Amino acid sequence: MAKNRKRTKIVATLGPACGTKELIESMMESGVNVFRINFSHADYADVEERVKIIREINEKRNFNVAVLADLQGPKLRVGIMAEGVELEEGDTFTFTTEKCEGTNKKAFMTYQNFPKDVQKGEHILVDDGKLLFEVIATDSELNVTTKVLRGGPLKSKKGVNLPNTKISLPALTKKDKKDVVFAIGLDVDWIALSFVRTPEDLIQLQDIIKANTDHKIPIIAKIEKPEAVDNIDKLTPHCDALMVARGDLGVEVPMEKVPLIQKRLVLKAKKAHIPVIIATQMMETMIENQVPTRAEVNDVANSIMDGADAVMLSGETSVGAFPLEVIKQMRKIIESVENSPLISMPETYVQCINERFISKTICHQASLMANSIDAEVITTLTDSGFTAFHISSWRPKSNILVFSSNRRILAMLNLLWGVKGVYYDRFVSTDQTIEDINNLAAERGYLNDGDYAINITSMPVKKRGMANTMRITEYKKSNK
Ligand code: PGA
Ligand code: MN
Repeated sequence: MAKNRKRTKIVATLGPACGTKELIESMMESGVNVFRINFSHADYADVEERVKIIREINEKRNFNVAVLADLQGPKLRVGIMAEGVELEEGDTFTFTTEKCEGTNKKAFMTYQNFPKDVQKGEHILVDDGKLLFEVIATDSELNVTTKVLRGGPLKSKKGVNLPNTKISLPALTKKDKKDVVFAIGLDVDWIALSFVRTPEDLIQLQDIIKANTDHKIPIIAKIEKPEAVDNIDKLTPHCDALMVARGDLGVEVPMEKVPLIQKRLVLKAKKAHIPVIIATQMMETMIENQVPTRAEVNDVANSIMDGADAVMLSGETSVGAFPLEVIKQMRKIIESVENSPLISMPETYVQCINERFISKTICHQASLMANSIDAEVITTLTDSGFTAFHISSWRPKSNILVFSSNRRILAMLNLLWGVKGVYYDRFVSTDQTIEDINNLAAERGYLNDGDYAINITSMPVKKRGMANTMRITEYKKSNK
């Protein structure tokens, strides 16, 4: 069996809690594969600085840590709140579209049409559903009066969900359009869109990306609305990854429905050969505590067993007290469960015959063969990353080494389960390239004398066409 290396990826959200260069470097060293910029809370100058730091560390340490720009989408939020606001059940509380600092009497609501869209009797949920309000009255212009049904602390910029209200906001708000152009300027590796409802939402984002850059930036559909769950088969052809955004999803649909939705979404992602991120409250208590709860350990472990490519941390790393410790704990959970024979992936996907049929078949067979001959590595050469998506989705037991001369592609692929990117830019002949690649794998400790490697390439190698060739090598150092 291939050596135990962490293969499930960790996405960590940047924030004030991971401000220093030293801490960011330690987090990368300890297992962060992707940093998420949450544009709900981002300050441009700050983001620019962090991205620069991440890229410098990548260069210095030969890492490929990716940057994910997460667009807020039509998310409703409260404004800045005074310190220590605490609401009690039965209180009367006003949401206003007039800018103000929030108190225990009122809060600013970022969404200008809110008093028009909301109706008496509807529910308002705040802070991932922790607080619950019932609409008593609206003046249809500025103020919505509510009664607190479930109280608690109300902090700045917390999210608001209106499960029964028809919201008239577009998929990409003015702010998202500005943020996406800024993110493209930073050359981010992934862009996520919140509150996706229809394929058109994703197409709209793709169009904006196309209009602002000449290279592809892959997109992540955040599944957090009931409409998105219903439309999932129509969404997967228009995105490059899914996120099970359990925070908002568990408010928009009854939270007891989330576990099975998570399992269904993982299977949908596997069928589409795209990665899936499981997000929110994975290690929530570690925002304040040094150790997770047993239930949290189980949740992370079970998400991996469901087939997640990546598990995500939000407040734990952005505002928590133990941003480094939480990465170390998560890593330990991943390493202790991900290679268990108890985990099996369904093999029932139908592969349709289309223009990529040859590459897809090679990737599938390479994964099967790697398992049957106990190969240490599968290697692939890629310009677009296509083969990496496919090999990863088959979850082979061997390590997946992806060679590319495009550093941006290597960083992008860092989100995918089991994929390790290596920079390579010599494309002389197939013989030479495979020899080089196996030597590079050996230098990195992935191959020893007598180990098997499965090499995927395209012939002729100089043409850099789609993968059409698979070779088995028994590695010998003396080959060098
Ligand atoms: P958010 O997305 O943290 O951007 O809200 C994740 C979620 O809703 O779970
Ligand atoms: Mn969300």
